[in-house]
Amino acid sequence: MTELSPSHPRYRSLLVRRRLAEAAERGVVAPEGLIAHGRGEAFDYFLGERSTPSARRAEAAAAVWLARAHRPVLSVNGNVAALASTHVAALARALPKLRVEVNLFHRTAARARQVARLLGEAGVSPVLGVRPTFRIPGLPSNRALVDVRGMANADVCVVPLEDGDRAEALRARGIRVIAIDLNPLSRTAQSADLPIIDELVRALDGITMALQRYRGPTTGPFPAFDSELALSEAVRTMERRLHRTATVGRGRAPASPRPVRGNGRRTRRAA
Ligand code: ATP
Repeated sequence: MTELSPSHPRYRSLLVRRRLAEAAERGVVAPEGLIAHGRGEAFDYFLGERSTPSARRAEAAAAVWLARAHRPVLSVNGNVAALASTHVAALARALPKLRVEVNLFHRTAARARQVARLLGEAGVSPVLGVRPTFRIPGLPSNRALVDVRGMANADVCVVPLEDGDRAEALRARGIRVIAIDLNPLSRTAQSADLPIIDELVRALDGITMALQRYRGPTTGPFPAFDSELALSEAVRTMERRLHRTATVGRGRAPASPRPVRGNGRRTRRAA
C-alpha cells in the first residue's frame, strides 16, 4: 500500500479516502458511497474546506431543534459510520435522548450489522435499524426500512449524506428534517427543513459543541429557520471564491481552487 506522507498538501483528504476505500473493501461502504464522497469533496473545495459562518449558524439552530425534540433520530449510512462513528457517539453523549439508526440505500443484512458494529465500537448504544420493523409508505428504496422505536416515529431526524427521496418521504410524515450535505443544490439540501451545508465531521462536531453550550428550554416550539437563506449563502460563498480565483488568475494559468487561509474556523476533516 502506498505510504502517505504528512507533507503532502492533501494529506488529510488522502487519509479520508484511504479510510473509505478500506471500509469499502470490508463491505461497510458501498462502492457508490465512494462516488458520493467525491461529489462532496468537490463542493468542499468550493466552500474553502471550512465551516462557513452560515453553516455554524445552521449547526447552532440544529442543536436547538434537537434539544427541544421529543424523539430525535440520527440516520447513519456506511459513509457516516466509516468517517464519523466517534463523532456520532459524541453527539449521542451530548444528547442522551438521541436515537441512532442504521439506514442504508444499498442495504444488505451484513452491511447493516457491520455499520451497527462500528457504531457500537465507538460507544453508541443502542443502535437501531439492524432489524427494521416498519416500511415508510411511498418510498421504493431500502431507505424505507426503519425502526418503530426510531425513525418511524421521530419528530426530528438528522439525515447526513442522504438521497432526496427519503428526505421528502420523512417530511411527508411530518418529521422535521435536518440535512448535512456539502451540496446546496442536492434535492436533500433543497427539501430539508434545516440544511447544514458543511462537511459531515465538522457539522456533527458543530452541533455537539452547540448542544454542550445550550442552556435553553428542552421542550417548546422549534425556532424558525430560513432554509432558503442558508442555501443561498452557501452558493454565494462558492460564487465569491470562484470569482476571486478567476479574477486573480486572469492573464495567468488558471489558479487551483486552494482554500483561502485565515478567515474562519480551521478545517477539521475526518481522519
Ligand atoms: P439528492 O438525491 O439529494 O440530489 P445525491 O444524488 O447527490 O442526492 P448521493 O449521491 O447519495 O445523493 O450523495 C450524497 C450527498 O452527500 C452528495 O450531495 C454529497 O455532496 C454529499 N456528501 C458526500 N460526502 C460528504 C461529506 N463527507 N460531508 C457532507 N456531505 C457529503
